[in-house]
Amino acid sequence: MSDCLFCKMVSGEIKPDKVYENDRILAFRDINPQAPVHVLIVPKRHIPTLDDLDDGELAGELMLAAKAVAEQEGLAADGYRTVINCKGHGGQDVFHLHLHVIGGRQMSWPPG
Ligand code: AMP
Ligand code: ZN
Repeated sequence: MSDCLFCKMVSGEIKPDKVYENDRILAFRDINPQAPVHVLIVPKRHIPTLDDLDDGELAGELMLAAKAVAEQEGLAADGYRTVINCKGHGGQDVFHLHLHVIGGRQMSWPPG
């Protein structure tokens, strides 16, 4: 998808602040962090929303990448928040599936 921001991160057309990568997944720092650590994990393949995800193996890889990023960023002991916003009511702004990993401060519940 040539006009997709996160596809441009994957292709290197826009350089992300990369924290983790494998053949199917890229993780980079959010440009507008909501906590001391805020990382986005994306599949390299363009998948617009969680609703479009049909690859269970990839879904598992995204979750395991979240765990690995949390460990790497020093969040594992105190805990962290993972979020996938889906479509309008979910508050999704970028339509390339991404998993937020947010930590380094106390989170509250429920979300706004
Ligand atoms: P969402 O609202 O779930 O679609 O989240 C989109 C996220 O992408 C937001 O947290 C933005 O701050 C983040 N974002 C937007 N543009 C960039 C960028 N160029 N680099 C890194 N993160 C970005
Ligand atoms: Zn994309």
